[in-house]
Amino acid sequence: MPAAWRVLMVVFLVWRMAGQMHAQQTESVAPLPTLQALRWEESVLHVVTSGKVNFQTFTLREPLRAVIDISPCTLPPETIQPEGDTPTAVERIRWAQFKEGVVRVVLDLREETPFAFSTASEGNLATLALGTAPSPASDKPRTASTPAKNNPPPPPPPADLLQAQWLADGEEARLQMQLSRRVPVRLRPLKEGYTTILEMPQVKPGDGLPADWSVKHPLIEQVQFSGDTKGARSALVIRTTRAASLRVEYDKEKPIITLAVNRPRNAHGKLSEKHIVIDPGHGGTSKGAVGRGADGIVYEKDITLAIALMVRDLLVKEKATVTMTREDDSTVDLYDRPKLANEKGADFFISIHCDSTPKPNSASGTTTYFHASDPDGRALAQAIQKHVSAVTGLPNRGAQTDTAIYQSGFAVLRRSEMPAVLIEVAYINNDTDRAKLKDPKFQKKVAEAIVAGLKAYIEGEKEQRMAQEEVEIRPAANQSEDEQIQIPEPL
Ligand SMILES: [Zn+2]
Repeated sequence: MPAAWRVLMVVFLVWRMAGQMHAQQTESVAPLPTLQALRWEESVLHVVTSGKVNFQTFTLREPLRAVIDISPCTLPPETIQPEGDTPTAVERIRWAQFKEGVVRVVLDLREETPFAFSTASEGNLATLALGTAPSPASDKPRTASTPAKNNPPPPPPPADLLQAQWLADGEEARLQMQLSRRVPVRLRPLKEGYTTILEMPQVKPGDGLPADWSVKHPLIEQVQFSGDTKGARSALVIRTTRAASLRVEYDKEKPIITLAVNRPRNAHGKLSEKHIVIDPGHGGTSKGAVGRGADGIVYEKDITLAIALMVRDLLVKEKATVTMTREDDSTVDLYDRPKLANEKGADFFISIHCDSTPKPNSASGTTTYFHASDPDGRALAQAIQKHVSAVTGLPNRGAQTDTAIYQSGFAVLRRSEMPAVLIEVAYINNDTDRAKLKDPKFQKKVAEAIVAGLKAYIEGEKEQRMAQEEVEIRPAANQSEDEQIQIPEPL
């Protein structure tokens, strides 16, 4: 009997330990708090999370930004829409999963604006009051129930756009714009072909502007200015005839901004003369994103390799020189990839990946990333995105800057010295996208489109006519206020 008791006791203890271990495991994989809301009440931003988190705030300069890091925290599967009116001192508000467990909220500030930050004792709410100097006792955070009382300073009046004229300078087209004071502007690709928007959020149109902004230049197809008399949403939309590098130059002394349009780097000659580094994302121990379905498990590293090998073969057929960062399932260090391209003196770096979201089936489509505001990378991303999104049959998510994802961008793009892009072909954790990604016929179509996009970047578009019909830009004349070009929100 005692022996039997001992056995029972051991069984009981093991069972209890297993139970505890199980409890610990479920605890450790418990979902992190999510960012729930961003709400403006006058000049105070309320940041709400679903659970207790830590908030950390600091300022970054050039450009001026107020940053809030929230941890541990993830983005919710559904999209967040900031509530309330964004104050004029804030150019825009954006947020991203900065790194694992850290959500970063960034306010792009127009001017040096002081702010005060406080958190509620529950740990799921923080407020950032603009126009309030940080209190001397800022190491002792105030609670949200004692909001800042100081009124924010009035926002600066928008600058007047006084004059605009095109200057032809050899191959380059230059649009010179004279303003009443210096303000920042920003270039962003639109989804359609070679269309780029110059956002001028602090500019209102003056009296001396041309009615017609068009110019006769082989690179430029259409130019349209949309002026906002309130000075919040003025913008210039430029459509080029091919992938073009667009660059903004600020005069050092005068409030003059010049938009320079050029053929981008390495966009002369033929594809057959170029050296291209193809980088199949992940590999070996780095499996990349995982797709799970009734059809089994698929790893990003296998899809990226399959497409990359097809791209290699097609480029070799075109007589181009190709270097692969990997040709099999080997592990390649992230930094060795751009390093190889730099050492080889390659003309292009093309990285191939599959996208993924925390929640399956919550996103779909194709995105091509370029680094920061690099004009050549942007042009290459536009060319490849145009061609790839035309064949995927999935949503076109556009050419996008990699700083929309990480403040510093993607390492493979940041470190590459040549025009470089990273293609997220489709979402591996979306059932529709994954079925396509696994299909060799789809892989082939994507590979062909990548090569066609690269070729179009170098040699120009073959079917320019067709490209022209893809976008419809309304004439600038007689626009009512709500018909103006809407500046789409950043990702
Ligand atoms: Zn990847």
